[in-house]
Amino acid sequence: MALEDIRIVLVNTSHSGNIGSVARAMKTMGLSKLYLVDPACEVDSHASALAAGATDVLGNATVVSELSEAIEECALTIGTSARSRTLSWPMVEPRECAQKLVSGSETGPVALVFGRENSGLTNEELQLCNYHVCIPANPQYSSLNLAMAVQTLTYETRMAFLDRQEKQPESDDAVYPSAQQMALFYEHLESTLNETGFIIKQHPGMVMTKLKRLFNRARPEDQELNILRGILTSINKSTRQKPE
Ligand code: SAH
Repeated sequence: MALEDIRIVLVNTSHSGNIGSVARAMKTMGLSKLYLVDPACEVDSHASALAAGATDVLGNATVVSELSEAIEECALTIGTSARSRTLSWPMVEPRECAQKLVSGSETGPVALVFGRENSGLTNEELQLCNYHVCIPANPQYSSLNLAMAVQTLTYETRMAFLDRQEKQPESDDAVYPSAQQMALFYEHLESTLNETGFIIKQHPGMVMTKLKRLFNRARPEDQELNILRGILTSINKSTRQKPE
């Protein structure tokens, strides 16, 4: 079932009760893959108590130390945020977020990422995501409890899933690169831009952040990324051949 390929990723959670409540929220909506990135608490009896009948989701949770590990194989990652940040990023509404997760999960794992109770996700973590989603809550009081945010977005995900089951699935045969392949591309791009002198090491500025935003928005397909890598390699070859 496609819902099994939708990961819920919690970053640096500090209250074990929230982890338990998230497990319960997920299971009620048919999701089962929970990832805990560097949890700041134990998955203890308090977590199990709040998970109620969803202790299997807790027990099967994967613990990793970095967000990049949790999303490594994912071709689509959506980050959540209770407020808009200084760095604008492609935004989706909860319903569109759910549709993207459901359609993306038909070809492989996808991820929905949630932040810390007190400070959310860092800009660096948000930049690992293709899109950001914000639940349009009361503007004067917009921050939901972590598990409630998971419940709201997984409910939308279930609705999109049921809707898609009823309808003829849209044909999107495109294959997208994983987050790891994108990270390797960014490394290649940055080293090439250093080599050509476009980025000056001491003053890198915001160039890489802006380029990442551009490529995240464009969402290149596998084949397109291969072309981009080929272009970079051809630049590498010609700059390395030039006499000093
Ligand atoms: N003070 C933090 C709020 C953290 S709430 C901040 O300003 O970012 C904990 C987590 O719950 C958030 O990181 C996000 O994952 C989720 N969350 C809470 N309210 C949300 C909202 N309105 N939309 C989307 N996610 C929300």
